Amino acid sequence: MPRISLVNVAQLAVKSVLRQGDIAVDATLGNGHDAVFLAESVGPGGHVFGFDVQRQALVSSYQKLLASDLQRRVTLHLVSHAELLEVMPESVLGKVAAVMFNLGYLPGGDKAVITQVDSTLKALAAACRLLAKSGIITVLAYPGHAGGDAETERLTEWMRSLNPDQFKMDLVLSQFDKPGAPRLFILRKWGDLL
Ligand code: SAH
Repeated sequence: MPRISLVNVAQLAVKSVLRQGDIAVDATLGNGHDAVFLAESVGPGGHVFGFDVQRQALVSSYQKLLASDLQRRVTLHLVSHAELLEVMPESVLGKVAAVMFNLGYLPGGDKAVITQVDSTLKALAAACRLLAKSGIITVLAYPGHAGGDAETERLTEWMRSLNPDQFKMDLVLSQFDKPGAPRLFILRKWGDLL
């Protein structure tokens, strides 16, 4: 069986929702792979807002975008995703088609800088408000590292507490599931929270 990573599963799920001209958010830029994917998917008429707390992540994302001439479609913010609602233009409230989170630490970067459960949950609540009807949120969580286990546990509780009339949640486990393997939460919005 070919190995499909959860990164690919998340992108496939988002791709099935995104249309040209859409607005999307990369809540954890990291090295910019999802930002490039989102910028390609929304096309020249769309826009992507990217967030990270490390300058290195913004630089590396910008370089990747530049290499594909996608930089004009993306606004990069050196700001915590917990500030999503404060930073995003008010005009996009309820109009964002997709928000992607890839938690944990920056590959190749400082492993001490990891996403924190309180800001992650605040960002998720904000993402739910930004999301358009039929919009999608993907959260790739890594319970295998210190802090990631508690974060994943709290995330699971939070996902289960969502109103099922407003959100449908799917949990995708790694193909080689073992304790500590990454897991992907996919949230789809049915109703309208606004
Ligand atoms: N672990 C993943 C990559 C995760 S990158 C993998 O292996 O593919 C996670 C990114 O989230 C890092 O670049 C980190 O700087 C960023 N991050 C941490 N806290 C954040 C916050 N509060 N807001 C936005 N980004 C954050």
